[in-house]
Amino acid sequence: MTGVAGFVFPPPPQPSAAVAGRSERFAVRRIFCVGRNYAEHTREMGGDPSAEPPFFFTKPADAVVQSGATIPYPPATANFHHEAELVVALHKGGHMVPEGEVESLIWGHAAGNDLTRRDLQAEAKAARRPWDMAKGFDQSAIIGAIRPGPIDTQAAIRCHVDGSLRQEARLSDMIWPVPAIIAQLSRLITLCPGDLIFTGTPAGVGALEHGQTCTVSIDGLDSAVVTIR
Ligand code: MN
Repeated sequence: MTGVAGFVFPPPPQPSAAVAGRSERFAVRRIFCVGRNYAEHTREMGGDPSAEPPFFFTKPADAVVQSGATIPYPPATANFHHEAELVVALHKGGHMVPEGEVESLIWGHAAGNDLTRRDLQAEAKAARRPWDMAKGFDQSAIIGAIRPGPIDTQAAIRCHVDGSLRQEARLSDMIWPVPAIIAQLSRLITLCPGDLIFTGTPAGVGALEHGQTCTVSIDGLDSAVVTIR
């Protein structure tokens, strides 16, 4: 008998993200994402920001891709979109965490890109089906190096595709700020160290094509860059 004792096949590698200025990596446990957290984006997706509180979906931990990668255009879509987002990285967990205690769970922040098969998402919405195949596909979570510490809530977030500006907002434009997101998420599941939270995208989402490079930048953080093969 061969292999790793106790497992029928070797356990998969631990998904992880780069840390700014350090060789140590951040072990990724789960990836949670917030839907409709900027009013203008909620409107562009056909929603009403005053009527619809943000909600959560997930991506697998091994969907994470380090900034600078080149990835294939994904299968099963003809409308592959970028979504520039602030990513919050947790080093502590908790259940029913009060908003005032959320800060102690946060280890750092990163720029991220919640890559989306928009056509599959539209089909799922119309059929009242889950979004998993629209959101949680392989290599769908691009993340820049995580910078430890707090972030300025007035920071600008931008997305450029081949140098042309597609999305621009301030983090303060979020409908639900980070403490409210994390407090609410902790009412639904028990948060754990290594969890990443993509906090929603501002208006201006759009299609990526073969050969294009998409850069998400947030003041004070390293960019999240991906090129589509
Ligand atoms: Mn998103």
